[in-house]
Amino acid sequence: MLAQRRHNIFKLKIGRRAVDADVTHVAVIKKAQGDRGVVRVDVNMAWSELEAQRGLAGLVDAGCELVEQPVASVDALARLKGRYAIAVMADESLTGPVSAFELARQAGADVFAIKIEQSGGLRAAQQVAAIADAAGIEFYGGTMLEGAFGTIASAHVLATFRELQWGTELFGPLLLTEEILAEPLQ
Ligand SMILES: [Mg+2]
Repeated sequence: MLAQRRHNIFKLKIGRRAVDADVTHVAVIKKAQGDRGVVRVDVNMAWSELEAQRGLAGLVDAGCELVEQPVASVDALARLKGRYAIAVMADESLTGPVSAFELARQAGADVFAIKIEQSGGLRAAQQVAAIADAAGIEFYGGTMLEGAFGTIASAHVLATFRELQWGTELFGPLLLTEEILAEPLQ
């Protein structure tokens, strides 16, 4: 993917193996990659708070720059954020403006993964972004792996944000085996 210049940001899904095995997995990939790209991880809420303390410390040493939803609870996210030199991003905890406000109030995330579908629609995603902006939380454009239409809608909403400090992952259409658009997205 690096050689093809298709990706230089790699988000690894971890959390199913023991914490130390996952951290080693990340470290080996980051080492092979060197400075050519960056590695982030998504734990999908798999860790307990204690596992996350161990995991985040290891991920910092591995050269990982961001961890997505390491734990389920917003309280625990807030206790982890700022404790390690790695950005903490909320995903599953973020289900629209009300949850965004609660996360911002508790200082539970450095970054919001904003998804139009999970936010509750286009306008709701903009409201989530407004809350993040007001709270000094940074942006990442997330995806529920929508196809072409949802991806276009996401791109339109993300284009209205003040800044996308962490980029986007709008790669859903790349996973589909058949193109449904007369003019494929680029
Ligand atoms: Mg996620």
